[in-house]
Amino acid sequence: MTPRERFLKALHLKKVDRPPVTSPNQTATIEQMDKLGIYFPDAYRDARKMAKLAAAAWEQVGLEGIGVPFCQTVEAEIFGLEVKWGKRKTDIPEAPFKGYSTPEGVEVPENFLERGRIPVVLEAIEILKEEYGDEVPIMGHVIGPFSLAAHLANMEKILKMSIKNPVIVKEFTNLGLEAIAEYANAMLEHGADAIVIENMFASVDIMGVKGYVNFAQPFDRELIRKIKGPTILHICGDGTKIIDKMIETGATCLSIDSKTDARHAVEVSRGKASIMGNIDTVYALAFGTPEEVIAETKRAIEAGIDIIAPGCAISPLTPNRNLRAMVETVKSLGS
Ligand SMILES: [Zn+2]
Repeated sequence: MTPRERFLKALHLKKVDRPPVTSPNQTATIEQMDKLGIYFPDAYRDARKMAKLAAAAWEQVGLEGIGVPFCQTVEAEIFGLEVKWGKRKTDIPEAPFKGYSTPEGVEVPENFLERGRIPVVLEAIEILKEEYGDEVPIMGHVIGPFSLAAHLANMEKILKMSIKNPVIVKEFTNLGLEAIAEYANAMLEHGADAIVIENMFASVDIMGVKGYVNFAQPFDRELIRKIKGPTILHICGDGTKIIDKMIETGATCLSIDSKTDARHAVEVSRGKASIMGNIDTVYALAFGTPEEVIAETKRAIEAGIDIIAPGCAISPLTPNRNLRAMVETVKSLGS
């Protein structure tokens, strides 16, 4: 069985010899960049460099999946956000934006797929499909509609508006939905096997359960309905109390953070969605020892996680040896 076949089976809750081990979010690290001589921000703007750095996840540490892009600013930039590229060559770009004050002030861009860095991402997916597509699953990362709204309107203002003027928040969230769906479907047409919807600002830690249910979940559901392929819904933070709501979106797979109760997630989702995650990215992967990563990985396997993966984006500070410890533990103990 190739890693791609195993991944697609596990994603759809079909029987596999062992769980796949992959990452639904960004995988690039300083160590990988140093080995390749490819750095940010070049890897954000050059398709070949983007593909090569993303493939380091498979080539250097054996993660069974390759995903692009590395950031969540591609869509927001096209909607008018100024992206601030980091000073150091390993910095992740930021979008220090005051925010549009009303949804009416936002112009929805035409010809979305031809704008900004989207052509670069689509070309990178084509390159990856060509070079690795028979063996390794390729993932396309898009931003969740609520997180795009948080970029467009500014997160602090969104939080205030969610109490004072909830209708406006929903209007902001609805703005990018069609464009994100179009982008996701283009990724599938260019060779992606699955779409990861990264909805970091929809975290219960920020919005609470009610906030997720009112302002993010209906739009996640609508987006997933429009995407013509398998979907992985990633919500940051402790998702324990929203697993049932995440399932209702119709996502093929739920990507859960390390704070989420893995056993509960697996139990609630059986027959409805697969579960991916929930290895701690900070204390274990970035700053832990390989022994701590092994213990953390064993815990996730024993909890019944379908696809073992970091619970969120991999920190650029993560050493390859820790990622390899996660991969090797799944390979030796997963069956
Ligand atoms: Zn996350």
